[in-house]
Amino acid sequence: MRIITMHSQAAATAERWKAQYYDAGKDMWNPTATHQSGAIYEQLVALGPAPDPADVVRVIGNDSWIDTGRCAECWVSGRDPWRTLEPRLRIGREDPNDNASTLLCFTCVRSARTLIASNS
Ligand SMILES: [Zn+2]
Repeated sequence: MRIITMHSQAAATAERWKAQYYDAGKDMWNPTATHQSGAIYEQLVALGPAPDPADVVRVIGNDSWIDTGRCAECWVSGRDPWRTLEPRLRIGREDPNDNASTLLCFTCVRSARTLIASNS
């Protein structure tokens, strides 16, 4: 279990970008609709290991890669309702081939804690 923040998302963006757009078998970058993906990767790497999320947004052109994700319980996005990119708790096994994890907002985690306490 771990906390997902826009800062942790920003720190992981370069590697996630590479996993999405680099084809190791062909040793080439697959372009996106609007980007030369290899050039974007180089810019992301140049931001260093702990980039400012605003710099990641500037390089990519939108905030989708630093989004903290939608809560599996209340279905509120990390961007809703005020686009503050609130942190999330990722719980469950994270496996690229068999992902059994889910995201929860802190409001729902607090509700779960209250539910557990009232049933203990
Ligand atoms: Zn929630």
